[in-house]
Amino acid sequence: MSKASLLVVGTGLSLTMAMAVIEPQQTTRYSAQPLIDRIAPPAETTMALTTDSAADVVAGAGPNLPLETLAQPAPAPKKANPWIEQTVRTGDNLSVIFKRAGFQTKDVYSIVSQAEEGKSLERIFPGQTLAFQATDSGELHAVKHIRSALETVTYTRSDEGFTSAIATQAPTAKMAWASGTITTSLFMAGQEAGLSQNTIMELANIFGGVIDFVLDPRKGDTIHLIYEDLYLNGEKYKDGAILAASFTNQGETFNAYRYTDANGDVGYYNEDGVSMRKAFLMAPVDFTRISSNFNMRRLHPIYKTTRPHRGTDYAAPRGTPVYAAGDGRVTKAGYSHSNGNYVFIQHGEQYVTKYLHLHKRKVKQGQRVSQSQVIGTVGSTGAATGPHLHYEFLVNGVHRNPRTIHKQLPKAKSLPEEELAQFQLAIQSASSQLAALRTDNRLAMNESDSPGRVQTQLAQ
Ligand SMILES: [Zn+2]
Repeated sequence: MSKASLLVVGTGLSLTMAMAVIEPQQTTRYSAQPLIDRIAPPAETTMALTTDSAADVVAGAGPNLPLETLAQPAPAPKKANPWIEQTVRTGDNLSVIFKRAGFQTKDVYSIVSQAEEGKSLERIFPGQTLAFQATDSGELHAVKHIRSALETVTYTRSDEGFTSAIATQAPTAKMAWASGTITTSLFMAGQEAGLSQNTIMELANIFGGVIDFVLDPRKGDTIHLIYEDLYLNGEKYKDGAILAASFTNQGETFNAYRYTDANGDVGYYNEDGVSMRKAFLMAPVDFTRISSNFNMRRLHPIYKTTRPHRGTDYAAPRGTPVYAAGDGRVTKAGYSHSNGNYVFIQHGEQYVTKYLHLHKRKVKQGQRVSQSQVIGTVGSTGAATGPHLHYEFLVNGVHRNPRTIHKQLPKAKSLPEEELAQFQLAIQSASSQLAALRTDNRLAMNESDSPGRVQTQLAQ
């Protein structure tokens, strides 16, 4: 049995990093509800930004990407008749759907041939919605093709035939933050802090070059995140990007900030502008599949064998995805009595990584692979006592511990000198927010009866 101590601080704030400052006195701490409920912004905590301002961002875009222009919806008929909706079914074509709605095949031809966007009406998919509006005399007046929650095309009859208009809707990004303290695993801490699986995966991707999320986390490590949730029509639409994150592992703090560089490329950088993306992942395995039970075995990560052990073993359930640690080329992918299913990857001139006892191989000899690409799954083929990934790292043909030779590995990309001032300015606000979260968390941890402290019993 162990106790998870978690602090969740959440509130909503329209997106404007420069204006957003955490006021500890005003911050409400919550405990039981899901985080989404917690961050629905009360009017008084929302910055004075309306939907036509910079508060709108396009899905997946960072705070400093250009905004998308909204197209005007098609004009309604003088006397608006109701829209009748039809859902596209498997095997449907336009004629069938139009007939179902009480209109003609010739209407389909008119729209497709006359409207500027007419051809795109032919690209319908099951589950999409078409809505029809008739004139008073029962003729087709307009058709709406709802392509997605974000995009609708309206075709309207006019004196010159059908015209089309595309209306796009951009989700509103709301900033949220969360803090967690690790007791068993990062994944558990993230879940307890109300983060979605996607966001936890994203967090792991960001820190995957500096932290081994299977072997490194220790009880008492902390995570702090500032991230976006995307809302559409007042409802959570999907997870947005992580804007900044900090991970304190065994007393050492790593910070990462999302930044769009001068070329328009989005990446995560530490406070000095050094990219978080390294040449090699610290742990080439999907840690989110590794339960706390498996994590407990990290105390003894290396199986005792009679021969000297020259790799790292990650105990994980059969089927857990195994990633290429870095970009490279598969030099061998095969089976042997001792290795079981194995994959070897050459990275540049000097480095080779080896992955043994795989359940399945997902790459072929000679194939190019990129970092984090799934190359196989964890298994127990060959001389293995149970499902685990045996991982080896070789430098110039010599086995090395990837965890202790970091200084010899290729340097990560840094932002160019001339961009650093701009970068420092861009991360200033997020940086002070992370600092405030850390302080707030420490204070809460010291007051054991703090109302914001959530204690959860985790079964081992
Ligand atoms: Zn091993």
